[in-house]
Amino acid sequence: MSNEDGGGRGDATRLVHGGRRKEWTGAAVNPPVWRASTIQYDSVAEMRARQHDTHHQFYYGRRGTPTQWSLADALTEMEPGAAGTLLYSSGVAAVTTALLSVLKPGDELLMVDSAYEPTRAFCDGLLRRHGIATRYYDPLIGAGIEALATDRTAAIFMESPGSLTFEVQDVPAIVALARARGIVTLLDNTWATPLFFPAIEKGVDLTILACTKYIVGHSDVMLGSVTANSEHWQALRKTSYSLGQCASPDDAWLAARGLRTLDVRLSRHQSNALAVARWLDEQPDVARVLHPALEDCPGHAIWKRDFRGASGLFSFVLEGGDDAARTALIDGLELFGIGFSWGGYESLVIPADPHRSAIPWTAEGPLVRLQIGLEDSGDLIADLAAGLERFREARG
Ligand SMILES: *Cc1c(COP(=O)(O)O)cnc(C)c1O
Repeated sequence: MSNEDGGGRGDATRLVHGGRRKEWTGAAVNPPVWRASTIQYDSVAEMRARQHDTHHQFYYGRRGTPTQWSLADALTEMEPGAAGTLLYSSGVAAVTTALLSVLKPGDELLMVDSAYEPTRAFCDGLLRRHGIATRYYDPLIGAGIEALATDRTAAIFMESPGSLTFEVQDVPAIVALARARGIVTLLDNTWATPLFFPAIEKGVDLTILACTKYIVGHSDVMLGSVTANSEHWQALRKTSYSLGQCASPDDAWLAARGLRTLDVRLSRHQSNALAVARWLDEQPDVARVLHPALEDCPGHAIWKRDFRGASGLFSFVLEGGDDAARTALIDGLELFGIGFSWGGYESLVIPADPHRSAIPWTAEGPLVRLQIGLEDSGDLIADLAAGLERFREARG
């Protein structure tokens, strides 16, 4: 438990001060990188005593060192009402471990149809092989999810907004229904981060971040986290430990460095992305812009009600054209790297082709996803204007 000293302080203050205990930092500002496998004890008695509670105690390298504990505590402090946070070697490891901590054979999982593709693959592969059935639901279902819940439904997984198509989910309505029926709720909160959507406060049981994205913020580290409320914290720890999950101290150190500037980075991602999205929205070759802060985006009203901001990732649907015309747009971009992941300081683009099973994806033309970085938005817009020109020529 580490959010007790939150004391009502603001997000930016907690981002700067979270997890910086004197016994971990020494006289420096940041904790050093403690690399350890073996931890040495003064006596057999001390060794035995430590086994009773290893949380934030030197025990064995797999349970971490102050470098990881400091980051985990800082993430917990960003989630009022949370009991604790564990770190993982990637966002996918965080997603899969969180799911395994709440599911058992015979259970049924309700999974949002707009989920991150590897999350889907885990449900359709490993979970299914172990006797856990997944049913996909419309991201805009809201309280209507009640009709899908059965006596076997053990968990509802949400991702809001979806990271290709940006439907904003009615998390409070789903959480209320799940609580009434004893169903556990999990949220992939990578897009909003706790700054724009404090998930535990909103009633979610387990909230997941691909720290690889905005927490790290510099496109050079793989890391994940799960933050749990007190009801689910012990089960999460047990499952994580038995799966041998841990994160490297070097990666945790880099992620903590990124975390301190999350507030200023996100506000620039937000304003840059909004400038680009609003410009795209006025272009005749763009059918729709899927950005939660724009009215065209499914779930926009829910975003307005529940979120404190919008980050820098969104998509747009081209007006007609095919994959070749979309490729002409993308391949010539000068400031946008072509690549997966997002949340770093630099802009990225990918062609997106959503895979759906509850409701098929249909649109006026191909979909393009943008991660808007910290460049000057005018330069990004000029680059995209030239891209739309290439698209028009290729579309004919
Ligand atoms: C990238 C991503 C993940 C997985 O994170 P990795 O660190 O790449 O494993 C999970 N969820 C969402 C929404 C993501 O964008």
